[in-house]
Amino acid sequence: MTDPFALDDGFAPPPPPAGPSPDQLLAGLNPEQAEAVRTTEGAVLVLSGAGTGKTKVLTTRLAYLLAGNFAQPWQILSVTFTNRAAREMRERVGAIIGEAAASSTVLGTFHALGARMLRRDGTRIGLPRDFTILDADDQLRLVKQVSAGQDIDTKRWPPQALLAVLQRWKDRGVGPDQVGADPGAEYAGGRAVAIYRAYQGELARLNACDFGDLLLKCLELFREAPDVLASYQRRFRYIMVDEYQDTNVAQGLWLRALSKGSGNLCCVGDDDQSIYSWRGAEVGNILRFTEDFPGAKVVRLETNYRSTGHILAAAAHLIAQNADRLGKTLRPASGEWGEKVCVRGVWTGEDEARVVVEAAETLQRKKVPLAEIAVLVRAGYQTRAFEERLMAQGVPYRVVGGPRFYERQEIRDAVAYLRLISQPADDLAFERIVNLPRRGIGDATVDLVRQEARATNVPMTVAAAEMIAAGDLPTRARTCLAKFLEELADWRTLAAGADPRTLLDDVLEGSGYLEMWRRDKAPDAPGRVENLKELLAAMDEFGDLQEFLEYVALVMENQSGDEVDRLSVMTLHAAKGLEFDHVFLPGWEDGLFPNQRSLDESGTKGLEEERRLAHVGLTRARKGATVSFAAARRIYGQWQNNMPSRFIDDLPDEHIERFSEAGMGGGVAARPASLETRPMFEPRATAAMADEPGYKRGQRVFHDKFGYGEIRAVDGNKLEIAFDKAGLKKVLSRFIAAA
Ligand code: ATP
Ligand code: MG
Repeated sequence: MTDPFALDDGFAPPPPPAGPSPDQLLAGLNPEQAEAVRTTEGAVLVLSGAGTGKTKVLTTRLAYLLAGNFAQPWQILSVTFTNRAAREMRERVGAIIGEAAASSTVLGTFHALGARMLRRDGTRIGLPRDFTILDADDQLRLVKQVSAGQDIDTKRWPPQALLAVLQRWKDRGVGPDQVGADPGAEYAGGRAVAIYRAYQGELARLNACDFGDLLLKCLELFREAPDVLASYQRRFRYIMVDEYQDTNVAQGLWLRALSKGSGNLCCVGDDDQSIYSWRGAEVGNILRFTEDFPGAKVVRLETNYRSTGHILAAAAHLIAQNADRLGKTLRPASGEWGEKVCVRGVWTGEDEARVVVEAAETLQRKKVPLAEIAVLVRAGYQTRAFEERLMAQGVPYRVVGGPRFYERQEIRDAVAYLRLISQPADDLAFERIVNLPRRGIGDATVDLVRQEARATNVPMTVAAAEMIAAGDLPTRARTCLAKFLEELADWRTLAAGADPRTLLDDVLEGSGYLEMWRRDKAPDAPGRVENLKELLAAMDEFGDLQEFLEYVALVMENQSGDEVDRLSVMTLHAAKGLEFDHVFLPGWEDGLFPNQRSLDESGTKGLEEERRLAHVGLTRARKGATVSFAAARRIYGQWQNNMPSRFIDDLPDEHIERFSEAGMGGGVAARPASLETRPMFEPRATAAMADEPGYKRGQRVFHDKFGYGEIRAVDGNKLEIAFDKAGLKKVLSRFIAAA
């Protein structure tokens, strides 16, 4: 494949025209779509609802420009929202007009394209070609260093919050000298701009860019080297952008600069799907398009080719509750009403996972490919319950746009603590968490301990203890390490007697690990706290620590090839632009969705963005959409009652069908009397637990995992049971049914 952005600009000769003629391409479109494709010159905005074929317009337009010889492949620049979307577009265009042309067209995300421009021409603003791109961790470390250098009280002005301020400036295309009278400048006692400047200075010293720089530096390049900009303007005769509603100011400026030459810019988007304001997206870009590009042609598409009637009507009614929107008409292409949106009330989060996975399996039996089924959640931690159920049922799945639950950083950290408690020789776990959260044990100390451990052929924990005893380490390191080893010893004692959740609770709180994330002001930190709480809730399912660790090891190993047909699990944010035959939308409960934090932080604006997210979720479905809510969830080991989401009230009765579990009246969740004592798994145990029996020594009981056994000792709600197959175990009474 030729790299169209090659540094030497040595382009391949034009590939021979292949595939259909321009007219043939237009034949597959409706008149409005065809108009958007045919209007190759000038600025064009396609502003229309979900599933109306905006992305199809862009793909066809790219093929049309090539088939009609309007431009060579490398003269067309297309911007997508994700790398995956870029790949898909390249494949689709390749299928239409041949791979040769598709492979040499310029296609990517804003970040990827910005990086390529900077590698090519960044030297003009003093950025060497081999600059590195910093990840989020590096950025934070750098802000911390810079803050320390400026004597900032990091308790008062956490680096995470500072980094967020800098990132917002970068999103707006504002460098340290351009901040002016921005409220953010007041941050850190008025020193935020100084920190910004110092941070950029450090990046330059390190020969590095952060993500925001990939655009910001391009803007600087365009300003400082007008000849470079002019060469890009000459080169890119046609520019196209998908998901324009979620571009930020810097991206808008970047597009405006590049398209100034030819004036040929085609953007598509939907204001009702703007869901990234928390990352600096400016819906104003799409709303002001005709002002930014006077004379622009605006095309409205009103036929939805994706969803059947009931789904579309329900989604339209929901989004109509937002005051701040342009408003648009949508009609289903097929004219079929199809199935009503299913709204399902269940008692608990576990019931929800069970019901959803059962429904997915029913679809699978009806020959629906798993790739056509998706579970779309509001918050990352929600995937855990579904992943576990899917694994238990042997349904192949993938988590799109993020790691699987047990692969997430904070979960691995927590598991590393437990591994080290269970197995003192686990050096990998030791190294991972010995200074996490920071407890004054620096890399140098860890290096010394590692060397000693290798030299004497003992585990690092043992080497550390020996070095402390021998007084081998500097005083401070010795004290800190000794304290950590003591904590470990305490947890080991606790592990011997307590159930795994009590242990993990103590580890997360006692170590300060959970607190570290609670204090973290990074946008993803609250999600990590939620994941850890979810892990705690999950611990109740395990009889002892060993069992849990074995389970995790298996989960991590349990990954087969990519060719398997898989169900998709992802967040609503990651689902933008995608479509599936059947979509499950769990957790529609007030507080979870709409998310309480969005409401608290952004009020009505936050609520409207949440509603747009709900709208994005519903409009991913072609034939089936199932919304569900649970009356109660176990959060942090405590049952919490929930009200069904207010968004369910936005769905009109004539387009939905309600299903509720026995005892749940009219879709409104009433709290079952026995909720506190409800077990989590099988109906069998559920029935037996409804009236909790008092357990006695010698009684025969049944446990869902360990099978039959006899009670040996009763200690409150903890029972010691000699299981016929699994041996002696301590378990909580609520997982037990009388046999
Ligand atoms: P979203 O707003 O969710 O990104 P979109 O407007 O980009 O949606 P597409 O994904 O392009 O919509 O199209 C939705 C579905 O409709 C796709 O399966 C696409 O192939 C189909 N489609 C679009 N236009 C037509 C058409 N003219 N005839 C038949 N099918 C079409
Ligand atoms: Mg699209």
